[in-house]
Amino acid sequence: MNRRDLFKTVLGAALPLSVRSASVSQLETEIVGLKLRHTWTTVMSSSEYRDTLHLRFTADGVTGRGEGAPIPRYKETAETARRAIEAVKDRITSYDPRQFSKLLDDVFTHIRGEFAAKAALDIALMDWNGQKLGVPLYRYFGLDPNDAPVTTFSIGIDKPEIVRQKVREADAYPVLKVKVGLKTDEEMIEAVRSVTSKPLRVDANEGWTDKEEAVRKINWLEKQGVEFIEQPMPAHMLEETRWVRSKVHIPIIADEACLHPEDMPRLASSFDGVNIKIDKCGGMLEAFRMINIARSLKLKTMLGCMISSSVAITAAAHLSPLVDYADLDGNLLIANDPFEGVLVKNGKLILPNRPGLGLLPR
Ligand code: MG
Repeated sequence: MNRRDLFKTVLGAALPLSVRSASVSQLETEIVGLKLRHTWTTVMSSSEYRDTLHLRFTADGVTGRGEGAPIPRYKETAETARRAIEAVKDRITSYDPRQFSKLLDDVFTHIRGEFAAKAALDIALMDWNGQKLGVPLYRYFGLDPNDAPVTTFSIGIDKPEIVRQKVREADAYPVLKVKVGLKTDEEMIEAVRSVTSKPLRVDANEGWTDKEEAVRKINWLEKQGVEFIEQPMPAHMLEETRWVRSKVHIPIIADEACLHPEDMPRLASSFDGVNIKIDKCGGMLEAFRMINIARSLKLKTMLGCMISSSVAITAAAHLSPLVDYADLDGNLLIANDPFEGVLVKNGKLILPNRPGLGLLPR
């Protein structure tokens, strides 16, 4: 052993792990503007670009990547997400990243809200650890990639001629998710049905505030071959949703009403299932916990997403073998995805079998 190696060995043995990692860990933040293929309109907003927060966590020569999509409904922006991470950067890099549970528990107590920022950090650490262990993340969670479900492809609210064009462009996807909740609901569905007989899932994004109207619309949707309805009424209207549920046949799935694990027990009598999103709950580990709690409450489980690149969508896809439904198409709706990760073949999610998230730069 030469003097330099001896020095490194002695120094390495003398320092606690967290201090050793502090000398090599590096965390970089970047806001990436994702360009949408079509203007994206839901009940909440209309946009042509979406900004997401990207993280690069590097230690021991390995880089883990993370992404979080801020949700405007919860007053998050890419800039507030970035500031939240920058404020705790030193704390993050002082930890041994292999002890990610302890790291995240501690760091998250120092970030109020900002679940997209938390999601980005969780994903970057999981990607890093998966690569260090040499296993794809689905294997880390003990899942069979062949169990990954079909993903829906989303059709945003638009004029009938554009809706028809979007549906034709979605030819490769066997199940579509259609956004409704504005005054044009019937027009939207009729435009979709004029060009396809595929199964549909419908998301009202809290658009109906009258329970009688919700029942009428849902019963009409059932006749149009709709498999389930997502968040028909505002998140706080649990009593009304419970009443609606007693009057309709198709399942009602909670999205805006279901953010965190503690929300789920009180949702179980108003909804048949829950839409879990990594950006809403703050990471893969929390989403994994939520899926298991939902299953124990006999709720159907769905993994949803925001408009994101393949970083965040692939993270969710690695958990998808656990769920009944997937709506993981955020990366398919953008024109400038910086990575290739999960793929879609005949609608089914194909998980990368490379270590970690398994991302390849484009
Ligand atoms: Mg939704």
